[in-house]
Amino acid sequence: MPVPDFLQEPLTLYEIAEQYWDLRAYPTQYVFSLLALVSQDKLERDKCIELSSAAGQEEWLNYCRRPRRTILEVLHDFHKSTSKLTIDILFELFSTIKPRSFSIASSALFSNGVNFDLLVAVVKYNTKLKKPRLGLTSNWLKDLQVDDNVYGWIKNGTFKYPNEVS
Ligand SMILES: Cc1cc2nc3c(=O)[nH]c(=O)nc-3n(C[C@H](O)[C@H](O)[C@H](O)COP(=O)(O)OP(=O)(O)OC[C@H]3O[C@@H](n4cnc5c(N)ncnc54)[C@H](O)[C@@H]3O)c2cc1C
Repeated sequence: MPVPDFLQEPLTLYEIAEQYWDLRAYPTQYVFSLLALVSQDKLERDKCIELSSAAGQEEWLNYCRRPRRTILEVLHDFHKSTSKLTIDILFELFSTIKPRSFSIASSALFSNGVNFDLLVAVVKYNTKLKKPRLGLTSNWLKDLQVDDNVYGWIKNGTFKYPNEVS
């Protein structure tokens, strides 16, 4: 995939936070070890140390993974520690948005391979948390307007017709 024009320019921290960091990612135990590192609040630091430890794995599953709590929600809960985060640590803390795959849902025969359709299921589900959980990409696609640009690339399929199987 060619590097899009906008990626050849320096980015502001705001642009990185808005467009590149996956703010809805589910925090790993490593995230809590980073928070513990900067925290000056005893209560929050002790909790972060517990959530990042091997012994605290069940606690981390209950707090993060099972309810699908996002990294932003965690930073909000641990706001005293969050206020001490440095730019270097922010880059450690956030992962970048990963590309998602979608299968071409239309035939290439009628568009000469120029246009294609995608059939995308919008991911929305509930956990024990009050706010519904929203799939990042499918909800972003849902809100696109006509003429918006979407960057992507085509991967070769692995499907073979019976007469192509060697
Ligand atoms: C080869 C390939 C082809 C694909 N083709 C298509 C396609 O044609 N159309 C299409 O719609 N998708 C397709 N997908 C899936 C697509 O890539 C995305 O994974 C999907 O759209 C969700 O992405 P998202 O960013 O919206 O959700 P994310 O933000 O990635 O969230 C998805 C995650 O939410 C969690 N989750 C979702 N539902 C629930 C639930 N009910 N309960 C608990 N947790 C849940 C799961 O952890 C899941 O991994 C394809 C995937 C692959 C690998």
